[in-house]
Amino acid sequence: MKDAVLNIYAKNSNGKYTHISNASPDMDYYCPVCNEKFIFKQGSIRQHHFAHSNSFSNCSGTGEGYLHKTFKNMLSEYLKNNINSQIPTFIKWKCNICTAEHNGNLLHDIIDVKTEYNLTECRPDIALIPKNGNMPIIIEIIDKHEPEKNVIDYCEKNKIVLIKIKLNSINDLEDIENKIKHPTDVIYAAEGCPNYRQYILSQNIRPVNIGVSEQAIRRKISRERSHNRF
Ligand SMILES: [Zn+2]
Ligand SMILES: [Zn+2]
Repeated sequence: MKDAVLNIYAKNSNGKYTHISNASPDMDYYCPVCNEKFIFKQGSIRQHHFAHSNSFSNCSGTGEGYLHKTFKNMLSEYLKNNINSQIPTFIKWKCNICTAEHNGNLLHDIIDVKTEYNLTECRPDIALIPKNGNMPIIIEIIDKHEPEKNVIDYCEKNKIVLIKIKLNSINDLEDIENKIKHPTDVIYAAEGCPNYRQYILSQNIRPVNIGVSEQAIRRKISRERSHNRF
């Protein structure tokens, strides 16, 4: 059945993204995926939606998950471009360690950007890969649901920086740069917190090696042990 997935987003003739709830029947709309003409459907049984005017279209359209997927791909492209052009990407966040506001270059020492990167235990939306073999920085795009629990657990266990970006509307696709520069939440970013050591001392907590996984530390220890035998 054609258009089994109801298309809920379109571009108007000025290229602006429009949600079906803001669409007007006498304007022209186009599919943001294939750029073909959409028609505005005001079904009485099915909810309002856009449909490809070519009913034989094979386009996957803009149904459920479109905003999440499109934002993820656009952000990934944006970051890749900045890496290739050596443009720093400064982000600002409220620190959940010392509660002050910090900023830093997200792409410092980052050499690649991967979507749906396979970390065995989880597949985060975006992983920023550093050059020194350290653990990646994880970005999760939040549309309706919070990140998968296995992503959060993985970041917590390995002390990986987890950046959350909450999407509010389709207009966020026009605002990629601002969304990454002011992320919704940045957690486990101890390296970016100048007050972290002081905080650790005051809390009397054993410091952790940020950016290095526990497994890597264990491997290093067992390597050193085996060296010591000789
Ligand atoms: Zn289409
Ligand atoms: Zn801090």
